[in-house]
Amino acid sequence: MSIMSTLKLRRITRCLTDLIYPRFCTLCYKPIPDEFAARRDCDLCEGCIRGLTFSAGFSCQRCGFFRPLERLGCHICELRRYHFERTWVLGEYANHLKRAVLAIKSSSGRPLANALGALLSKRVRLDIEYYDEPVDVVIPVPTHWKRRLVRRGSSVDIIAKQIASALSVRCPDRFLKVTRIACKQGTLDAASRRINVKDLFAIRQKKHMHAYRGKSVLLVDDIMTSGATLNELSLLLLRNGVRQVRCATVARGAA
Ligand SMILES: [Zn+2]
Ligand SMILES: [Zn+2]
Repeated sequence: MSIMSTLKLRRITRCLTDLIYPRFCTLCYKPIPDEFAARRDCDLCEGCIRGLTFSAGFSCQRCGFFRPLERLGCHICELRRYHFERTWVLGEYANHLKRAVLAIKSSSGRPLANALGALLSKRVRLDIEYYDEPVDVVIPVPTHWKRRLVRRGSSVDIIAKQIASALSVRCPDRFLKVTRIACKQGTLDAASRRINVKDLFAIRQKKHMHAYRGKSVLLVDDIMTSGATLNELSLLLLRNGVRQVRCATVARGAA
């Protein structure tokens, strides 16, 4: 079955389910009007979607950094050498989206993680359908097993699976691993972040690596700040034979 037929079938099933079980916004808990419920692929109302995705600036295609004018070059890309080729971002790490990203880190934030995953999926899928190169495999940024245990899972895994499902590609479980517990990136400056993630990751399923040689990988995370984590993972994958790495992240913070 083609991607378009699968998406149509999914939409029809969703409409039928909505008739029986009316939908509520997962963020503000208001009912989602029928006309939007039928159209949307995620459980958020129009007002919340606008609040989450609003940005006064323009996101750099390469690193996702928001700048005030589109025609301005990206000084972050000029300063740093990124190994990934482009980044899809839902919005800036501020206001509504900042609160949402913090909320999805706990186990009670799973429905919201699903909704944000659906919004980000749509952004990636539209670009890939119309002009970007196809993605072969989606890989979430891994979390150390002790942190996964405390949070009872990973919201990044949920978002990555949503995107993989929307693109009809694979999203292997635990393909990458974290080799040690590092300091939280958010507590460090840009230079310390690069040191903090140096050799932090490894490929868990080395024997399956041949299946990814020459492939295009989409790395998924919930927030990107300096880009050090995604850069380190991109380098690891490229050194192991992956042809191209692109990234998708819910929010982009100030670098
Ligand atoms: Zn809402
Ligand atoms: Zn940039």
